[in-house]
Amino acid sequence: MPATSPSSSEASADPFPASAVAGATLAEGRPGWQPDADVLRREDPELAGVLLAEHERQSRCLQLIAAENFTSRAVLTALGSPLTNKYAEGYPGARHHGGCEVVDLAEQLAAERAVVLFGAGHANVQPHSGSSAVLAAYAALLRPGDTVLAMALPQGGHLTHGSPANFSGRWFDFVGYGVDRETGLIDHREVRRLARVHRPKAIVCGSISYPRHPDYAAFREIADDVGAHLVVDASHPIGLVAGGAAPSPVPYADVVCATTHKVLRGPRGGMILCGSESATRIDRAVFPFTQGGAQMNSVAAKAVAFAEAAGPAFAAYAHQVVANARTLAATLADEGLTITTGGTDTHMITADVAGTGLDGRAARGRCAAAGIALDVCALPHHREPPVGTTGIRLGTAAVTTQGMREPEMVRVGALIGAVLRGEVVTGVAAAELTGAFPPYPG
Ligand SMILES: *Cc1c(COP(=O)(O)O)cnc(C)c1O
Repeated sequence: MPATSPSSSEASADPFPASAVAGATLAEGRPGWQPDADVLRREDPELAGVLLAEHERQSRCLQLIAAENFTSRAVLTALGSPLTNKYAEGYPGARHHGGCEVVDLAEQLAAERAVVLFGAGHANVQPHSGSSAVLAAYAALLRPGDTVLAMALPQGGHLTHGSPANFSGRWFDFVGYGVDRETGLIDHREVRRLARVHRPKAIVCGSISYPRHPDYAAFREIADDVGAHLVVDASHPIGLVAGGAAPSPVPYADVVCATTHKVLRGPRGGMILCGSESATRIDRAVFPFTQGGAQMNSVAAKAVAFAEAAGPAFAAYAHQVVANARTLAATLADEGLTITTGGTDTHMITADVAGTGLDGRAARGRCAAAGIALDVCALPHHREPPVGTTGIRLGTAAVTTQGMREPEMVRVGALIGAVLRGEVVTGVAAAELTGAFPPYPG
């Protein structure tokens, strides 16, 4: 396991001891590097135009992509800081580059905050993305050719859960489990049966579209039954876990992989949580096995996001995300959509739009034209060419960050119904709704 602090000889030679660093820049006013849209406008008006147009799109349209959110200004500040200039291969106190004393503090803060926030033995905060975290978890636990049991892609598995287009499907032998045809809930009897037949080296629990809480204890029990590792890919619900609005996989999983940019509302990136006995194996699987230098600006932004997620305001936010999703799901059901599993426990809703006479793609297209951003998704047990497009998937993480609550969710659901019926064809109504909830109030 990497040292958590520089050795004493390094520390005594350190021109920037932690105590001095902490207080140094706080009182100095606006630093010369602070992100400034005017600087970009002058230097590169073309690209500045793109950034401002995207900010405008994010502000004006209804953001119902289940995997998206709006980070805080503090997170954006860390992302746009000179930490992006620093090379830092390795881990705090054991780097391959000089001059890492200061950024080491950022990574230590991020890892310590993640450990406390999630009650984990160890946290690796370097994965560049959720997919990188999953890759490292497999690298730590598996060998090419090993059998892995994961949710089948047409039932809600992620690309990294065995897609033939992804490294996972190429290098491992994936077997897919699914959900019950009637209830839409994970069929644990089927998971156990497949585990006993195929004897996987690892079982993956996680999904891009499952709107209910997985039963982590049941997965643990099945994994123990067949001697498999349990990998939980909690990329979607980890923010709800942080806010106490969803059960934690940490006590059950050998390794938890997650993103930091979904409900958790941090910078785009990944992380891995595990017991302290697996720390060295996981750390080596991230660096040097699957990644090079850590992105220290992202690592610092993760530290900021973890501190934000530890506070009472974030707990209230996480619970409001779920309350909003429940209200939106009920309203969409009233509008004639069939909600998978009949509702949601999370930020996520998946729905069949067949009752409106549309397929998922046509529904997404109509919504896009009306200023509503959402995704198509696969609906389990639907026969469909092309695969993955019969349903729609929505989430409430972003609109809840904007400050919307149940009354707005009723309006959003009714608006989607009107759009799907062809009664609303422009973005005016969506812009009226979002106008009162700017993601970055001036
Ligand atoms: C989002 C997600 C990922 C991948 O995250 P990226 O940062 O896009 O690589 C992996 N697994 C699951 C279940 C996800 O939802």
